[in-house]
Amino acid sequence: MPTSAELMERAVKVIPGGVNSPVRAFQSVGLTPRFIDHADGPYVWDVEGNRYLDYVGSWGPMILGHNDPVVREAVQKACEKGLSFGAATELEVIIAEFICETVPHVEMVRMVNSGTEAVMSALRLARGFTGRDKVIKFAGNYHGHSDCMLVEAGSGVMTAGVPGSAGVPAGCAQDTLTAAYNDLNSVRALFEGNPGQVAAVIVEPVAANMGVVLPAPGFLEGLRALCDENGALLVFDEVICGFRLAYGGAAERFGITPDLVTYGKIIGGGMPVGAFGGRADIMGQMAPAGPVYQAGTLSGNPIAMTAGLAQLRALHDQPERYERLEAAGARLFGGIAALLEKHGAPCTINHVGSIGSVFFTPDAVTDYASAKKSDTDAFARYFRYMLEHGFSLAPSQFEAMFISCAHDDAALDETLSAIDAFLQG
Ligand SMILES: *Cc1c(COP(=O)(O)O)cnc(C)c1O
Repeated sequence: MPTSAELMERAVKVIPGGVNSPVRAFQSVGLTPRFIDHADGPYVWDVEGNRYLDYVGSWGPMILGHNDPVVREAVQKACEKGLSFGAATELEVIIAEFICETVPHVEMVRMVNSGTEAVMSALRLARGFTGRDKVIKFAGNYHGHSDCMLVEAGSGVMTAGVPGSAGVPAGCAQDTLTAAYNDLNSVRALFEGNPGQVAAVIVEPVAANMGVVLPAPGFLEGLRALCDENGALLVFDEVICGFRLAYGGAAERFGITPDLVTYGKIIGGGMPVGAFGGRADIMGQMAPAGPVYQAGTLSGNPIAMTAGLAQLRALHDQPERYERLEAAGARLFGGIAALLEKHGAPCTINHVGSIGSVFFTPDAVTDYASAKKSDTDAFARYFRYMLEHGFSLAPSQFEAMFISCAHDDAALDETLSAIDAFLQG
């Protein structure tokens, strides 16, 4: 088998930057990406045969662990019936019923192919429903790569150190108003400056694309109240938090009801799936029931729906999985916090449930500005040390560590030992 370096050499000639998503490049940590051959449980193996304990989890979807037999076998079986029909299937009804029955704030849902599409469609719906054009987002929140959301976006855009993206027309960006995360006054000011023009506030209820940043107490409640006062819709982008921070996502965990919610990642069980849903009176405006158009050749694809349904059922029907994810998060992230303290490291850690981030700054990280104070060179040294010792982290300061149900205590403790040794210097 060719090595990662050989594959990268070939890849850069035919794929821009050698990767199909910029976050996979190891540019910001000064390495060549490891090409992955296979994965199982909490581990991934590269083409050289090295095994890594994986905290990327395909950027969130693999919450059961890699190659979960229940999901895999369901998919294998579904493949025998054909890969795509482009027609209505029973499976689509079953998964929609399942989501609407198990998530109280989702009365109707539409399946799409990615988180990007889910957000793009949910915002079009919010605009169509309210008859307003403007949308408020938060600096450092990432909502996929649709034009109007590539304004002070987190994730790969933040890692690349660019304010937005070339190719986004000014006209697209002008209807996107940017507020500061955890700063209700900045939201209030935008509502006041644009009276009767704001269709929606979209937020990552726990930000996970500038590293993990928790909502301050009262922040989500305040957004709910401001939206209600101003006739705007509250959209929770639960592409990461949904089915992770609780089965009902951040909405359940923090007890706030959004008008619309977007999903991705976990909902596809590892297949390319997104979804948006919420209040029936709003969702009823979607074509063909209503005037807001949205479509997809492969939306609701039977293989993807099979994977998603199998994973959602496993999570819903075995609530002890969430207890395990909480305990694992407490063990790992609590352990890291203790190590940072022990070594007097100039770092801070943010975490909730099974996601967390170590920031290489001694100050509290509560928003985009404070996240950007991180020493990304120090992060790169940490990343390289962990990779050399068999741990796969996201190659960026501004991403989360994802724990899966397959990470047992021994694996978590090994990780803590490696971090201890790194901090020892
Ligand atoms: C990953 C992500 C998206 C985009 O999802 P894709 O499937 O990559 O298009 C949107 N919002 C959030 C919060 C995400 O983390």
